[in-house]
Amino acid sequence: MRLLITGGAGFLGSHLAEHFLAEGHKVIVIDNLLTGSLANISHLFANPDFNFIKADVTNFIHVPGKLDAVLHFASPASPIDYAHFPIPTLKVGALGTHKALGLAKDKGAVFMLASTSEVYGDPRVNPQPETYWGNVNPIGPRGVYDEAKRFAEAMTMAYHRCHGVPVRIVRIFNTYGPRMRKNDGRAVPNFITQALKGRPLTIYGRGRQTRSLCYVSDLVRGIALLLKSSINAPVNIGNPHELTIRRIAEAIIRLCGSRSRLAFKPLPVDDPKVRRPDIALARAKLGWKPEVSLEEGLRRTIDYFRAGA
Ligand code: UDP
Repeated sequence: MRLLITGGAGFLGSHLAEHFLAEGHKVIVIDNLLTGSLANISHLFANPDFNFIKADVTNFIHVPGKLDAVLHFASPASPIDYAHFPIPTLKVGALGTHKALGLAKDKGAVFMLASTSEVYGDPRVNPQPETYWGNVNPIGPRGVYDEAKRFAEAMTMAYHRCHGVPVRIVRIFNTYGPRMRKNDGRAVPNFITQALKGRPLTIYGRGRQTRSLCYVSDLVRGIALLLKSSINAPVNIGNPHELTIRRIAEAIIRLCGSRSRLAFKPLPVDDPKVRRPDIALARAKLGWKPEVSLEEGLRRTIDYFRAGA
């Protein structure tokens, strides 16, 4: 296959590029490097099956030659990133999705949208099945990301229904691993950086809110299976092992061999109180489930950060 990955210089995009190249496919990455980085893909440049185009996918996308799949992964994705770049976040979710869908239609390619558990907002149902419509504040600080992704899902389904484009929508839950930016503001990179420096771990609120962390290799395997499937509807991919943020912080302190303490800070506006994927659909239809334990995944991520990322 010849695949295009928008946002392919980001955390998830670069792991996907690596995965598909290793399977013998050709990969083109488009990225404007707003939150992505060439350092994530520099090791791929020597591969003749790899191409990089620096471009903003909110503008017209021109890619010569055939394409079998368009994977739209471009977007700021951490709460502080989309707070810094609210308008680019809305534009890449809305205009970028429209451009990427148009390209997939033109090439007769499968389109995959990187959607998110944020479409469920601050959920009133836990765990969240794909049938749950969510509880999103459209005008809050997270609304720029949540609503852009909800619009992107609507646009994706419209292209499927009106133009017959084969579509895959992966609703990605919290994922962690090597190549996260240490300053992206998310819990795992913050806690690891703080623990390695012996600084206090910043817990927002009382740390009783929950998240369910999926190691990046499990996520990539799920995405590859979904792409090969024929499910033209959203599928949750994430790890259902739900923990409080405080427990996650304590595990990181232990695994880093750190003596850091916890420092409690104000809870950000609209911070979801719980989050856990219902993965019954992925299990049944894709035969997928996560395999990397939190301890193993955190060890690998800590090694990456320790090595001076
Ligand atoms: N969080 C925290 N301390 C930090 C960073 C995040 O307590 O230094 C909390 C945050 O308030 C949220 C959870 O950890 O409840 C996960 O935050 P993250 O930014 O990783 O992603 P989210 O799941 O909110 O998109």
